[in-house]
Amino acid sequence: MHNFDVVIIGGGTAGLMLARELGKLKRKTLVLDRKDNLLAFSFNTLGSFINIKDFNLTKDVISKEIDTLIFKSKNVKRAIKTDNLYVLDKKKVHEELINAMNTDDVTLKTNIHIKDILKDASGNFTGVIDKDNNEYYAKIIVDASGTNAIISKKIGLRAKKVPLATGVEYNVAYLGNPNTMYLLSGKEYQGGYGWIFPLKNKRAIIGFGSYNNEVIKDLKRRLNDVLEFPFIKKLVKKDNENVEGGSIPITPVLEKFVVNNLVCVGDSVSQVNPIVGEGYKFIFEAALMASKAIDKSLEKEDINCLVAYETEWKNRFSANYKRSKSAQEKLYKYTNNNFVMDTALLLMRLRSDERIVRSLSGEYGLENKHVSS
Ligand SMILES: Cc1cc2nc3c(=O)[nH]c(=O)nc-3n(C[C@H](O)[C@H](O)[C@H](O)COP(=O)(O)OP(=O)(O)OC[C@H]3O[C@@H](n4cnc5c(N)ncnc54)[C@H](O)[C@@H]3O)c2cc1C
Repeated sequence: MHNFDVVIIGGGTAGLMLARELGKLKRKTLVLDRKDNLLAFSFNTLGSFINIKDFNLTKDVISKEIDTLIFKSKNVKRAIKTDNLYVLDKKKVHEELINAMNTDDVTLKTNIHIKDILKDASGNFTGVIDKDNNEYYAKIIVDASGTNAIISKKIGLRAKKVPLATGVEYNVAYLGNPNTMYLLSGKEYQGGYGWIFPLKNKRAIIGFGSYNNEVIKDLKRRLNDVLEFPFIKKLVKKDNENVEGGSIPITPVLEKFVVNNLVCVGDSVSQVNPIVGEGYKFIFEAALMASKAIDKSLEKEDINCLVAYETEWKNRFSANYKRSKSAQEKLYKYTNNNFVMDTALLLMRLRSDERIVRSLSGEYGLENKHVSS
């Protein structure tokens, strides 16, 4: 009855990384995505504290290596030196994952919009069904459908509505230091926050994002206002009208992301760091951990092996996520108050660069555990 070992819903970052790993392990894998082009995105640039070698990616996926991260409020700057921060090119990441895929064992299908999961009489998941009522069977089902969270919502792992942070971005001419990234906060950002990610060839991405539903309604106009700030005008020059953007879940990571033979990875279970919105590192790690657990489960014919993925991911990242969530809630509360934001950045000067980077990169508290080299 099972045509595949694994069916993955979603050929986004998490789904492709997991499929590449399962292909290496020669597991028959089917990836289904509702899009017709897996390399078309609503935005293309990501900041990430990541060691790309840990995930078998090449330097080609890097748009820019960053050596300085500047936090800026109205009156205070805190510059942090770091040597493992990158601006990544999302399209290049996905291209590399697809090109490295073992096509003997992994099949990618586009234009397939999954609507539900199938169960047998004893409650085990047997496959998924698409909007045209085609059924796809596998021994293990993976939800990697991003914020849509099609299966994790259906089976009640994730609430139907979750708080989202939404961002919009312009690709602009950049006059600043090519290796400096900015994170911007304060009343001027009207309940939101801003960022500047440098790219190659004197270009940069400038973005504006918010957790606030009222602000989200009007983000593009607010980003245009940000471009008029004197400090910003010295750094970037808008020369086109193309707007990119999207939404990320800012709930704390879900309590469960494995149920029987269903495994969830990526934004479908909110594996996004709530404070900086970084998803890549945690999603890549999730895909690697999930592939090992899936391989073992198939080898031993025992779905109980799958939960090792959830346990490993939580041991590594959950405590940090809780800390980040509380920091994000404070940011939401105080970002409208320049005095508080200025004071927060002044207090940040008392902390070492290394400690701040460890915290931002999701490694805080992991000094004595395994940490990416
Ligand atoms: C504006 C913005 C800025 C961001 N900036 C950063 C950053 O700087 N650094 C960082 O690390 N992260 C960043 N993130 C977060 C990061 O992009 C996400 O965490 C990551 O892309 C999630 O990967 P995923 O595979 O879980 O989901 P996605 O990449 O969204 O993939 C989900 C896939 O599932 C498919 N799909 C959905 N529903 C169905 C269905 N019913 N049937 C079939 N297919 C389906 C979709 O078409 C999609 O291809 C940002 C996100 C946004 C929106």
